Amino acid sequence: MLLYSTNDHALRVPFREALFNSLPADRGLYLPVDIPRLPADFWERLPSLSLPQLAYELAHALLRDAVPAEALRRLIDEAIDFPAPVVALDADTYVLELFHGPSLAFKDFGARFMSRLMGYFLRQEGGQPLDVLVATSGDTGGAVALGFLGVPGVRVTILYPRGKVSPIQRRQLTTNGHNIRALEVDGTFDDCQALVKQAFGDAELNERFRLTSANSINIARLIPQAFYYVNAYAQLRRQGRSEVVFAVPSGNFGNLGAGLLAWRMGLPVRQFLAATNANDTVPAFLRTGHYQPKPSVATLSNAMDVGNPSNWARIADLFRHDPAALTDLVTGYSFSDDDTRAAIRQVFDQYGYVVCPHTAIAWRAWQQWQQEHPQESAAGVFLATAHPCKFPDVFPADVAARIEVPSAAAALAGQKEQQTPIAADFEAFKRYLLGEA
Ligand SMILES: *Cc1c(COP(=O)(O)O)cnc(C)c1O
Repeated sequence: MLLYSTNDHALRVPFREALFNSLPADRGLYLPVDIPRLPADFWERLPSLSLPQLAYELAHALLRDAVPAEALRRLIDEAIDFPAPVVALDADTYVLELFHGPSLAFKDFGARFMSRLMGYFLRQEGGQPLDVLVATSGDTGGAVALGFLGVPGVRVTILYPRGKVSPIQRRQLTTNGHNIRALEVDGTFDDCQALVKQAFGDAELNERFRLTSANSINIARLIPQAFYYVNAYAQLRRQGRSEVVFAVPSGNFGNLGAGLLAWRMGLPVRQFLAATNANDTVPAFLRTGHYQPKPSVATLSNAMDVGNPSNWARIADLFRHDPAALTDLVTGYSFSDDDTRAAIRQVFDQYGYVVCPHTAIAWRAWQQWQQEHPQESAAGVFLATAHPCKFPDVFPADVAARIEVPSAAAALAGQKEQQTPIAADFEAFKRYLLGEA
């Protein structure tokens, strides 16, 4: 498998390089040179395939000889060891639950697949252990921590802003021990990100350590997210449905990017709905044709507070030969915090189902699309990107009372937390990394 950079279509790197570097030196994004369409036979067999089985076929078609078949199969069985069920709420409305992994968010798919791939290549090569540095506003850190926990040859250092993540999110970072270190930064998420960025630019740290990021723009995080779109379609086919609209709660647009990758590989999709909060850069672009990044604003669905989505260049590049196809296939919707609260309430009253604030926005987009297309008979699948228990402050009391905290997350409350407090100061962070703190 070869990849090119969205900034330099002549560049060609092997998969391993894209995996460990995340970004090409020209600051573009990696995309596969060949995105194969799976043959008709695959789509006919699809309803009989399990999630790991179809994941293997998709990954093998994309990665080709980058990872031998047997190793790939084993790695997928290990990484994707939890379900992604499609649950019917009414005749045409389905929720795709992506929160059954260890961190209770869809980022588990990307983080676990990436960590196993890195582990595989490190085993092949031996050499210096890898140091993963990651800043988190909540969900990324948990997925990366639990995804890399116990992976040999890798140490993970997570920076999170003190008091700005929920208790479950914090415990997912601080109760692991082993190869996972949690740093509680006296500052904001932006401070955490700046510290990590500075570390990657520091000559001394790069000499001492083999640093890598677990960034959401890594191609290895995108690929496994394509699996659950195809798996959702397989489940709908078993119920006799074949026309599907996917509503995707979006921030950095990795999730939607993965859906578009699945579509390019042959997944039939009636429409994608790009659902955002007030950070509406992409919906505005889809409406006006002007791409105008802006500073992010804080909302209830804070994992989607992104004003300049890092994956958008990848999506634009996928459609560079036919930009009109992008605006045909993807419709943008943006909703306020008031809309989000109302959607949480309405889904609860109508279905007795609790959605997290990100998921609520996707449901709201599907509701609106349905109203705008009364003649259509597509099934609407909205993606539930996180379990509601990760955002306890958002819900009114009667809704909160109905949230069932999964046992693994509940058990964290009794475990010892280990975090190192640190100032939002690069010299302090560097001293810590060098073991002088
Ligand atoms: C990260 C995240 C998102 C945004 O996903 P993108 O791939 O960045 O668009 C949405 N919902 C939740 C719960 C998240 O953690």
